[in-house]
Amino acid sequence: MATQIEVQDLHKYYGKNEVLKGISVKFEKGDCVCIIGPSGSGKSTFLRTLNGLEEATEGDIIVDGYNLTDKNTNINIVRQNVGMVFQQFNLFPNMSVIDNIMYAPTELKVMTKAEAKERALDLLSQVGLTDFKDAMPETLSGGQKQRVAIARALAMRPDVMLFDEPTSALDPEMVGDVLEVMQKLAEEGMTMLIVTHEMGFARKVANRVIFTDGGVILEDGTPEELFDHPKHPRLQDFLSKVL
Ligand code: ADP
Ligand code: MG
Repeated sequence: MATQIEVQDLHKYYGKNEVLKGISVKFEKGDCVCIIGPSGSGKSTFLRTLNGLEEATEGDIIVDGYNLTDKNTNINIVRQNVGMVFQQFNLFPNMSVIDNIMYAPTELKVMTKAEAKERALDLLSQVGLTDFKDAMPETLSGGQKQRVAIARALAMRPDVMLFDEPTSALDPEMVGDVLEVMQKLAEEGMTMLIVTHEMGFARKVANRVIFTDGGVILEDGTPEELFDHPKHPRLQDFLSKVL
């Protein structure tokens, strides 16, 4: 097994508020990990520290061998290897679908325009949106926007994909299409960390589930272990409310 992400004793403060209170965890290449837990438990903050959107206050985060907390590390290289998908899509509103997807690879000059276009068309076909390549984001449904956001994150050929509640802002009938794209990615072996409330997806697709509460990991195991045999009373309580 190859370790892709290693986190050691990660602490994150906002002012005096300690939001992550000593997280140590490793993710292997090809892991599909769902992170569950109550609102305010630090799930988004944790994901954001993994691609440098938030700086760790203390501890080490090693992604693909690069230590994010080392001042000499070029954070841009790490960001190129770690794609992120947000609850609110965050598409560039003034660019067409295909331009959204081509933006990073062309702007960062890792692909020629022709290569980026070929890659974008391939990704649009993978997420089932070939016909929408010239559409503007505002004309798309939430589910379509999120599939574009996934394609855009994949454009740079990242090694890791982070998803922060990717289906929470969607109408229920849109959720399935987005989860299907994510399941396919997982089956292709992408390393994925997914903060989600979709317990059915977590059980079916994840090889591992992590329960966080109060800025710490309280349980980490297989879906069967967490969902069928939860040990921690707070996980038992959480599941009784969401299942
Ligand atoms: P979750 O995603 O599990 O709901 P978050 O990581 O968003 O939790 O938030 C954890 C805690 O950190 C909350 O108390 C939240 O108010 C606080 N927090 C999150 N982002 C910021 C920020 N940029 N500045 C100050 N406090 C923040
Ligand atoms: Mg959150």
